[in-house]
Amino acid sequence: MTTRIVLLGAPGSGKGTQSQRLVTRFGIPQISTGDLLRSAVARGTPLGLVAGEVMKAGKLVDDSIMLGVIRERLAEPDAAKGFILDGFPRNLVQAAALEQLLAQIGQPLTRVVLMEVDYAELTRRIAGRRSCPKCGSVFNIHSMPAGSEQRCDKCVDRPELFQRPDDTEATVARRLQVFEEQTRPLVGFYQARRLLRSINAQGNVDAITALLVAALKPAPKAKKKVAKKKVAKKTAKKVVKKAAKSASRTVAVKVSKQAAKKAAVVTVKTTKRKSVKKTAKKAAKKAAKKTVAKKAAKKVAKKAAKKVAKKAAKKAAKKAPAKAK
Ligand SMILES: [Zn+2]
Repeated sequence: MTTRIVLLGAPGSGKGTQSQRLVTRFGIPQISTGDLLRSAVARGTPLGLVAGEVMKAGKLVDDSIMLGVIRERLAEPDAAKGFILDGFPRNLVQAAALEQLLAQIGQPLTRVVLMEVDYAELTRRIAGRRSCPKCGSVFNIHSMPAGSEQRCDKCVDRPELFQRPDDTEATVARRLQVFEEQTRPLVGFYQARRLLRSINAQGNVDAITALLVAALKPAPKAKKKVAKKKVAKKTAKKVVKKAAKSASRTVAVKVSKQAAKKAAVVTVKTTKRKSVKKTAKKAAKKAAKKTVAKKAAKKVAKKAAKKVAKKAAKKAAKKAPAKAK
């Protein structure tokens, strides 16, 4: 499983602590832009030299340098399995630029987790932070055993820890305000991309890690939906196929019925035509016979009429002189 994530949260929400746990759990690097910049400057890489100049001048390193440093880091082999981005992006401009960069290198985010902690708790946590002046490790007086010395146990000479100016209660309110104004809008940005999950990051550290790990898993609901959609598609295809089959059958039946009808009509017509012809012929024959008979009859009648007329004329001639006498 590739895990490419951004942890979102106000200062003091525990992003650093939980990132380190994910590093151990998934074997992927934590990419913190602050650490990256410091490392790039220390190693004197081309970008590091530029960033060093900017930082020396007391200015903020701009986004293009940050993105360049991130790109360099993601090209290293240990980032192939994934990464945890911590502290970047901090605003919408950076989020859009990061999205573009990750798309270009074919490593888009798989999840963004918002770690929610209320303000009172955030203030308490931040104000309790103590840093090692040598290695930069951050400790918290609230999670240290009671009565223990405030010294770094990662450095051999165990230097005394100090409170960074950024972590005093006076500056916490301003940092939280910056988070609300600049970083909070990323919630909507990542929600729109269906990447965001929120967890309650207050309480036991192990419990929070468990919530975080669960939040990194693919959404079971989304899976079901996809599965349902697939099933629906398959069913739809089947239905369409069946419909098509029965439709073609019906069409075939219709066509054949129509063809049969046509054929029948044609046959009937031809038969009719044939019979009509026959009848006509017969009639013609009969008619012809009749005509012959009539002609013959007429002749006979004429002859008969002539004979009758002659006889009558003779008789009349015989009688006529006698009357004249
Ligand atoms: Zn140290």
